[in-house]
Amino acid sequence: DSVFDGEDLDSAKVVRQWLGEHVREQIGSYFQEGTLPVRELSKGLGDLGLLGMHLEGYGCAGTSATMYGLACRELEAVDSGLRSMVSVQGSLAMFAIHRFGSEDQKQEWLPKLAAGDAIGCFGLTEHDAGSDPAGMRTKAKRDGSGDDADWVLDGVKMWITNAPVSDVVIVWAKTDEPDKNGNPTIRGFVVPTDTPGVSVAEIHDKISLRASITGEVTLDGVRLPASAMLPEARGLRGPLTCLSEARFGIVFGVTGAARDALTTAIDYAGTREQFNRPIAGFQLTQAKLANATSQYSAITLMAAHLGKLKDAGTITPDQVSLGKMTNVDTAMNIARDLRAVLGGAGITADYSPIRHAVNLETVLTYEGTHEVHQLSVGRALTGINAFA
Ligand code: FAD
Repeated sequence: DSVFDGEDLDSAKVVRQWLGEHVREQIGSYFQEGTLPVRELSKGLGDLGLLGMHLEGYGCAGTSATMYGLACRELEAVDSGLRSMVSVQGSLAMFAIHRFGSEDQKQEWLPKLAAGDAIGCFGLTEHDAGSDPAGMRTKAKRDGSGDDADWVLDGVKMWITNAPVSDVVIVWAKTDEPDKNGNPTIRGFVVPTDTPGVSVAEIHDKISLRASITGEVTLDGVRLPASAMLPEARGLRGPLTCLSEARFGIVFGVTGAARDALTTAIDYAGTREQFNRPIAGFQLTQAKLANATSQYSAITLMAAHLGKLKDAGTITPDQVSLGKMTNVDTAMNIARDLRAVLGGAGITADYSPIRHAVNLETVLTYEGTHEVHQLSVGRALTGINAFA
């Protein structure tokens, strides 16, 4: 940890303490029940300044990217579902409004989202458009002519984190407006979830990321004023910029899941005895702990370095892809290997490594799958686009 600034680490300690007092003990039950009390937790998370933490103004804390990353590490040391809730609120919903919204949209939504008085979500993925969001079918049509005409939205968004408890959803949709290649332009819309025509169904059958609320959002003739469109986002660059922001939090966050698996395994191995000695004394157990520590150190250094680049304003999306791809995959392998140190106890909800391993399966897939990030890095290295 000496690679990080003392002030950043102190602020992470405050987060860790709060989570220890309010969530840590309950998280195994939330996971088993397939729920997370988002509304109850959001006030406390807002008071800590964790919602939209690295954004400036409008009630946001305006911290460095590294400080935000270290907070994500503490959140994900508890559970990837908890970090997902905060990432979606801050780095997707709030960031989209902060970066691409009008002054009115910022004034209306950011202070209450930062305080945890409102919950936000981000609707890009659809049933038939995941890795290839350009294939989305959700449409936004003007009802009438001129810039003041209402918009009418139709479509279905799938896999939307926080949606069933959200007050506002950022919806990405295709408009009639042609882009420079003559294709429909993708635009973003700020959609209050109580708008007539918006309905949300919760997805209940997840085996991974169970301590997270996920939903399907249906938009059926949803009429919005012209002012609901995010004025500064045009084309896929809009949602992709938001996703790169959220992926940065994942680069740090997953190191928390790995750290928690590691400390849990060390503690268990020190007290569990077989053959009349602690299992920590067996060389094969020590090899597992040593390998995990080596990998944990590597992903922590990756996060610290990307944090420095982000704070310097020089980070590129391909570097974020490299960090997301490497750190999630490595953290998942750490959690899986350490699960085995706990033997049979390791497959129960009493210990965290298996929960982290199962959660990280989702983290490997969302915000760009592992393969999609491999292709981004591959394109950066070779100059050849292998996506399509
Ligand atoms: P697909 O795109 O169908 O991919 C299936 C497989 O094919 C993957 O292995 C993929 O890597 C591979 N593949 C696809 N294209 C290529 C290619 N060109 N080359 C090689 N391999 C390829 N989305 C949101 O908009 N908002 C959210 O809040 C959100 N939260 C989520 C929460 C959860 C719990 C989950 C599971 C998903 C969430 N998502 C969200 C959606 C997530 O981002 C998508 O699931 C992800 O982008 C993958 O899309 P897909 O599931 O359609 O898989």
